[in-house]
Amino acid sequence: VRQMMVRLEEVQRLDSLGILAGGIAHDINNVLGAILSLSSAFETLHPPDGPLGKALATITQACLRGRTVVQGLLAFARKQAPEVGLLDLNALVHEVRGLLEHTTLARITVALDLAPGGAPVRGDAGALTHVIMNLCVNALDAMPGGGTLTLRTRSGEDGARLEVEDTGTGMAPEVLRRAREPFFTTKPMGKGTGLGLAIAFGTLRSHGGTLELRSAPGKGTTVTLLFPPPGGGDDAAAAPAAPAPAAGR
Ligand code: ADP
Repeated sequence: VRQMMVRLEEVQRLDSLGILAGGIAHDINNVLGAILSLSSAFETLHPPDGPLGKALATITQACLRGRTVVQGLLAFARKQAPEVGLLDLNALVHEVRGLLEHTTLARITVALDLAPGGAPVRGDAGALTHVIMNLCVNALDAMPGGGTLTLRTRSGEDGARLEVEDTGTGMAPEVLRRAREPFFTTKPMGKGTGLGLAIAFGTLRSHGGTLELRSAPGKGTTVTLLFPPPGGGDDAAAAPAAPAPAAGR
C-alpha cells in the first residue's frame, strides 16, 4: 500500500508538472516563433560573414535550440496527439542512423545489430523516433573521448525490444536512481533539460511498454525499450492509441 501511495504521489506530481510545463512551453513557443521569423527575414538581407549576419545567425540558432527544448516540454505534457500505427523498430533505427549523420560523430562508431525478421510494434513513429534520438544524444554525450554506440533490436513472442548501448562514462548509482526524474540533469545549463529520460519513460508507458536502465560507471550504459506484442490486424490507422498514463506520453 505504501508503495502504491508513493507511486500515486509521483504520478500526481508528474501530472501537475506536465500541465505547468505545457502552458509555459506553449507561450515560449510563440515568443520564439516571433523572434525566429524576424531573425531569418533579416538574415536574408545581410551578408552571412558580416558582423550583423553572424549575430543574426546566432539568434536563429539559439531560437531553434529553444524550440527543440520546448517541443520536448510539449511532448512531456502530452499536448501532441499520438498517431499510432504498425511500425518496425528496425526502420526507426535506420531513420535515427540517418539523423545522426548530421551530428558530429568524431571517434564514435555506430553499430547496428538488428532483428533479422524485423521488430514489429504498434506505436507513434514520430514520438518514438524522438525518444531514440534523445537516447543516442545521451550516449554521445557520455562518450566525449569516443566509443561505440550500438543500436540493437530483438523480437519475440512476448514483444519487441530496442537497446541503445554506449561504452561511455556510465552513471553513478545516485545518478542512475534519479535519471528518469523530470528535470534531473547532470549536464551544464543549456546542454541538458533533464527531460530526455522522463519523456522516454512516459512514451514507453503510453505504448504499454517500459524502459530499463543498466549502467556501470566507467564502462557504459544500456537503455532498453520494451514493447508488448503489436497484436492482430495490420489496419494500423484504425487502431486506437494505447491508453495514456497520467504522466508523460
Ligand atoms: P539530459 O540528457 O537533458 O540531462 P536525461 O533525462 O536524458 O536529461 O538524462 C538525465 C541524466 O541521466 C543525464 O544528465 C545524465 O547524467 C544521465 N544519463 C542519461 N543517459 C546517460 C548515458 N547514456 N550515459 C551516462 N549518463 C546518462
